[in-house]
Amino acid sequence: MNKKAVYIIMLGPPGAGKGTQAEVLAERMGLVHVSSGDLFRENLSKETELGKLAQTFMSKGELVPDDVTIAMVKDRLTRPDCEKGAVLDGFPRTPAQAEALKVMLSSLGGDVTIVPFINVPDEVLVERLSGRWMSKSGRVYHAITNPPLEKWFDDVDDSPLYQREDDKPETVRNRIQVYYKQTSPLIEYYKEQGKLIEIDGTQDIDKVTEDLMKAVGK
Ligand code: ADP
Ligand code: ADP
Repeated sequence: MNKKAVYIIMLGPPGAGKGTQAEVLAERMGLVHVSSGDLFRENLSKETELGKLAQTFMSKGELVPDDVTIAMVKDRLTRPDCEKGAVLDGFPRTPAQAEALKVMLSSLGGDVTIVPFINVPDEVLVERLSGRWMSKSGRVYHAITNPPLEKWFDDVDDSPLYQREDDKPETVRNRIQVYYKQTSPLIEYYKEQGKLIEIDGTQDIDKVTEDLMKAVGK
């Protein structure tokens, strides 16, 4: 008998550590890590129409419109590797996306099981994102708190790391505003459903992982 698919949503402001933790959580739970930001960046590097459209919003730190974002995530979640479920990172980011996800998951025979909300105060976020270095495959490093073994190359595939254009402080400040306006209502939305678990994201990366594993019952 097929077990019900499991979907975990990482919630939190930009720079809270969603991507860092989603990667570990997905690996330990045997699920796929689905990052909407990474999907947009893949489209961008392949110069698809979706990538070009997304870029006009991403460069300003604004959200890409719901309809295209929902269609892109739906396409990803219906691929065979997501059969057992996924750790969602960066999606949903608006109440309309959360409602669309609900419909999507019920047609896939699953549901959101738990929503870890990684809480980090604003003043830490700018610092985290200014020091963030990324690999093409989406692995995340930090110049001080989580440096690569060799500067600036990926530990796993040795590819060169890069800093995101939208991680500069002016854009980050707008992304934080956008988060409060459009995404933070989801905290209440999932709290009402009894699915929200708040995690103190100011702790060391390993301690945050430990709290997360406890939250998901592992
Ligand atoms: P963060 O590091 O803040 O979590 P992401 O990589 O998730 O950043 O997102 C980068 C950008 O991609 C966002 O600022 C936004 O423009 C776009 N984006 C990512 N996910 C979504 C989404 N669910 N809805 C709309 N736009 C999104
Ligand atoms: P998000 O996906 O929420 O935008 P990331 O996982 O990309 O956040 O993390 C943002 C930056 O902060 C990265 O450079 C990452 O290495 C670093 N980071 C993540 N978690 C922690 C932590 N608990 N303590 C210190 N730095 C962290």
